[in-house]
Amino acid sequence: MFSHAIKLFSVSGFEIKVDPSWLLIATLITWSLAQHYFPLSLPGYSNGAYLLMGLIAMLFFFASLLLHELSHSVVARSNGVPIRGITLFLFGGMAELEAEPQSGRVEFWIAIAGPIMSFALSGLFWILSSLSQAVGASAALTEILSYLSLINLVLAIFNLVPAFPLDGGRILRAYLWHRHGDILRATETAARSGAIFAMILIGLGVLAIFQGAAAAGLWQVMIGLFVLTAARSSYQMQLAKSVFGDRTVGALVPGDPIILSPEMSIQEAVDDIFLPNRIGFAPVMEKGTLLGYLDQKAVAEIGRSDWGKTTVGDAYRGLDPAIMVSPDLPVEELMTRIAQSGRRKFLVVRDHDLLGVITLADITEYLHLAETLQRR
Ligand SMILES: [Zn+2]
Repeated sequence: MFSHAIKLFSVSGFEIKVDPSWLLIATLITWSLAQHYFPLSLPGYSNGAYLLMGLIAMLFFFASLLLHELSHSVVARSNGVPIRGITLFLFGGMAELEAEPQSGRVEFWIAIAGPIMSFALSGLFWILSSLSQAVGASAALTEILSYLSLINLVLAIFNLVPAFPLDGGRILRAYLWHRHGDILRATETAARSGAIFAMILIGLGVLAIFQGAAAAGLWQVMIGLFVLTAARSSYQMQLAKSVFGDRTVGALVPGDPIILSPEMSIQEAVDDIFLPNRIGFAPVMEKGTLLGYLDQKAVAEIGRSDWGKTTVGDAYRGLDPAIMVSPDLPVEELMTRIAQSGRRKFLVVRDHDLLGVITLADITEYLHLAETLQRR
C-alpha cells in the first residue's frame, strides 16, 4: 500500500515515512488555511503573513498527527506487538503493525492511545492559546494555537467514530472480540459498521457536491472510499488468517496436474488441454522432468496461423524461481507473494518434482467455501 513512501527519520526505533499523497494534502491544507481560514478568523493581515501562518499551522498539524500515531506505536510495542513504522498518507497516519494484537484488551489500549493523545494535544494547545491571549502575545500566534486545538479535537473525535479501520472501529472490534472471543466475527461486524459509515460519508459528499460545495464534498467521498476499501480488505485478511492459520500450500494444491508435453502443437494444447479444462496455464514435462510452463501470454505471442506449426517445446517458458513455490510455504505467505508480484499461478515443486499447480482462484474458492461452511 505504501510502496512509494519516502523515509523521513526515525524516532526511538520507529521509522517515520511519508507517502507522496501527503505532500498534496499538506499543500491543500496550507492553501485553504492561508486563503480561507485565517483571513476569516483574523482579518487585516497581508497574504504573505497568512501563508506563513498556514505553513506553521500545517507543520504543527503534521507533528500532531505523528504524535497520534506514535502513541499507538508505543502502546503496541510495550505490549509486544512489533511495529514496522509509521506512514503519513492522504488521510492522516497509519502505524503499521507487523502482527495482530494478541487479545481484545491489548487491541483496545493500542486503539485508544491515539485519540487520547489528540485530546491531550487539543487541551494543551487550548491552554497555550489562552495563555498567549492573556499575556498579549501576537494575535497571529493565538490564532494558530487555537486552530491547532480545534484540529486536534476534530482528529480525536473523527477517529473515534466506530468505523473499522478507524480507531473507534478498532475499539468496537476489541470490545466484541473480548466479549465473544471470536476475532473473525468481531472483525466482520466492525468492518460492516465501517462500510455503513463510509457509505453515509460518500452519500453526504455527493449531496454536498450537488449543492455546490465541491471541495468539501469530494473530500468526504475520498475518505469514504478509503474507509470502504480498508474495511473490506481488513475483513478479507482476517478471514484468510483464521481459515488458513498455519496451513501450507501442500495442503491446498490440487493433485494430478494437467500437463503438456513438448511435442504437442500449440493448436493441440489450446484445443485439447486449455479450452476443455478451462485453464490458461500448464506445466510442460518430458519423461517425468519438469521443463517449464506454457501460459496464455506465451500462446498469445504466436500468430494464430502458426499454432499448427509451432510446438509447445518451441514456445514454453523455462523454470523461473518467481513462479515456483515449495509445498511447505504457508498459504498466507503465498497470498502476500501474489499481492506483491501480481502473479496468480504457481508451480508447486519439491526437489525438482512437480506436485501440482496452485492458483489465486484455488485460494479464493477455498476461502469462500470455508466462509460459507463456517457461517451458521
Ligand atoms: Zn489513530
